[in-house]
Amino acid sequence: MRVVDIIHKKRQGRTHTDEEIQFLVGSYAQGATPDYQMSAWLMAVLWRGLSEGETFALTAAMVASGDTLDLSGLPGLFLDKHSTGGVGDKTTLAVVPILASAGVQMPKMSGRGLGHTGGTLDKLESVGARIGMEPEEIREQVRVVGACLCAQTDRLVPADRKMYALRDATDTVESLPLIAASIMSKKIAGGCPSILLDVKVGGGAFMKSLEDARALAQWMIGIGAAAGRKVAAVLSDMNVPLGYAVGNRVEVREVVRLLQDDPQTETRLRSLVLSLAGAGFLLAGRVSALADGEALASAQIASGAAFEKLREIIAYQGGDTDYLTDDDKPPVARIQWDVTASSGGFVRRLDAEAIGLAAMRLGAGRATKEDPIVPTAGVILRRTVGQPVTPGGVIATLYTDDEAAARAVVPLVSEAFEIGPTALDAHPVIYETIGLHP
Ligand code: URA
Repeated sequence: MRVVDIIHKKRQGRTHTDEEIQFLVGSYAQGATPDYQMSAWLMAVLWRGLSEGETFALTAAMVASGDTLDLSGLPGLFLDKHSTGGVGDKTTLAVVPILASAGVQMPKMSGRGLGHTGGTLDKLESVGARIGMEPEEIREQVRVVGACLCAQTDRLVPADRKMYALRDATDTVESLPLIAASIMSKKIAGGCPSILLDVKVGGGAFMKSLEDARALAQWMIGIGAAAGRKVAAVLSDMNVPLGYAVGNRVEVREVVRLLQDDPQTETRLRSLVLSLAGAGFLLAGRVSALADGEALASAQIASGAAFEKLREIIAYQGGDTDYLTDDDKPPVARIQWDVTASSGGFVRRLDAEAIGLAAMRLGAGRATKEDPIVPTAGVILRRTVGQPVTPGGVIATLYTDDEAAARAVVPLVSEAFEIGPTALDAHPVIYETIGLHP
């Protein structure tokens, strides 16, 4: 078999055999097929697409390129969760301890933030938690604590690591089958029998339309089913940042307040966390109705068990749990800069992508994979969609060590708020759920 023939076939829009896909991915992962040939194939796929069968084969070949997490012999229920990423999306840090505190174990491998989107790993590192574990350590932590929040290990789906870097550099990320195979290969290698997907939709997300998000969710559910996994997807809104905090340590603090049942918690964030946790309990088989799952999630928060579980996870991973409860523990951001409203009324829109970019420029995110993160940097929104503002009232506070960056992002944050005389109907936080029974 020759790689050039495989490229030619896809260039012509023809369908691959499973063997061709296995050969291409396997030889690429082993270094026998060079980047330039894989790039050409990826570009052909971007234009010509992959059938469902080809996408299943691609996912299986990617999983086979490395190890899978072996959960055999560990008793109990398991769930994995994945978010396609957004601004202020801190749901993993809340959902994992809620589920783990009620007997659903979660070995959860997460990603870093890139561009305007945040990543769970950066939030964990902002409180000093270790994130680089080997599969044996993940398994042991799950046995002892019931959950592990960590990076994808080098040995898991090495083909995806190489292909994703290449897609980033060759502008071939935005292909539905490639995205679905990339995400699902990591979830399948993660070993959990049940997988909950949070597919974000809107201006601050990868998928800008509900139709695209639905299609991606359906492909991922199909891939999971072909691999014998139970998969459900929640399609949730990402036109508006989730919660008030956008950054790293500031987002950890917002999760802590939520888990401490603080009544000031932003309502959309709380509602999405309870829905995801409820769906997770149902999918993992802990409850038999969604309403029971949501009630269990609320109870785990109200009793303090979920917060204690978060503390346990962070402590086990070597993090400093003082950061969970102490806003003033040094180092704190050198500059705290209020952004004020130029007119009064109601917040009608709040551009998630603009707020994510502002947080990135303040030091909370990275423009390229190599950029360092400032753990204390970020944006705290003082108002969100539907809330009233007064002329000159504070609408956001910028946290940074970089005064020039603060000055530069003030207009960006200011313009992210559309203020008008009347409130608009907010987007629902959840558009629909697919694959969750009953
Ligand atoms: N996230 C992934 O892990 N892979 C993609 O291709 C896109 C988003």
